[in-house]
Amino acid sequence: MAKAQETVLELDLNALSHNFNYLKSKLDSNTKFLGVVKAFAYGSDSVTIAKHLEKLGVDYLAVAYVKEGEILRAHGIRTPILVLHPQPKNFKSLIEHCLEPSLYNTKVLNAFIEVAERQSQKDYPVHIKFNTGLNRLGFWENDVDYIINKLIKGKSIKVKSIFSHLAASEDHDEKDFTLNQISSFEAIAQDFSNKIGYKPWLHLCNTSGVLNYPEAHYDMVRCGIGLYGFGNNPNEDKNLIPVASLKSVISQIHKIEKGESVGYNRSYKASSFEKIATIPIGHADGISRLYGNGKGYLIVNGQKAPIVGNVCMDMLMINVTNIECTEGDEVIVFDQSYSAATLAESAGTISYEILTSISNRVKRILTK
Ligand SMILES: *Cc1c(COP(=O)(O)O)cnc(C)c1O
Repeated sequence: MAKAQETVLELDLNALSHNFNYLKSKLDSNTKFLGVVKAFAYGSDSVTIAKHLEKLGVDYLAVAYVKEGEILRAHGIRTPILVLHPQPKNFKSLIEHCLEPSLYNTKVLNAFIEVAERQSQKDYPVHIKFNTGLNRLGFWENDVDYIINKLIKGKSIKVKSIFSHLAASEDHDEKDFTLNQISSFEAIAQDFSNKIGYKPWLHLCNTSGVLNYPEAHYDMVRCGIGLYGFGNNPNEDKNLIPVASLKSVISQIHKIEKGESVGYNRSYKASSFEKIATIPIGHADGISRLYGNGKGYLIVNGQKAPIVGNVCMDMLMINVTNIECTEGDEVIVFDQSYSAATLAESAGTISYEILTSISNRVKRILTK
């Protein structure tokens, strides 16, 4: 791979294949795989990632919002797409694009049935979401009878799956809580299947659920972060390869004397003679101001260079006093060796957030 000459987000589809196959290897052969490609495939490129996942034989895709699904359809993605968090305003378009809604409360259930009936749909596939402890989206256990009553009155929709979401699947200290979620999900699913008279698919696990709760894989799993190369702990990270690498270059180097300041509000002052490099990436590109003032560091010729002063909108400055480097040299923000998870940690956040923050001003390129 040629060295970066501007800020770029490199995407390695071989890494995606590796991660997909690794996660698949944890599943029974009849457990289906849903690839989560919401938020531009975790900040990478949803169309490119979805196309590659299709090639790898993914069974389902998921996005958060209808608009995200429309984009995938517009680019020829044919795989079934679950929309995790649709709003009734977009149900007409959802049906037009053959997207499948998660129905998570009576308001959206009734609104969807109304639109489906108006469009003379028959057995339109829907997914019923239950809340088992995350307390974010989902019907309650005691809503089953209400839902069943609605369903048997009409023929416009058919329940393809019942699902829920784990609150702490990566957190071993919360194992009891998770096991409780698993058993209440199973009780709901049993009750629902008995009353509806057929067996919708069941799914519960995200990436960490797949890795930590093999007994709860059921008919399908929903993996996001693992596909992009992160396992939510260092042991699992070893088995996965980050798909995205964020690279930039040194635009300029300033040599400053003791007491001189760097950047807005003069928040950094040199304690001796120092070499400061300016990098063309800023908070508008997704590097939050929280990484500034010595928290985060970038990699220059294999060495750590701390971010000094405040991160600006379009650039940031790093201290390269002890690093041999020159204007035009490549700078690594994160890659397959310098993990985005580690950088994220320096600002008190997680891989998910830094990845999904990379703005669309940053060019995406495929390394293969
Ligand atoms: C985002 C999301 C996932 C994927 O979770 P990862 O931890 O990234 O694997 C799965 N299910 C739901 C409901 C989600 O919102």
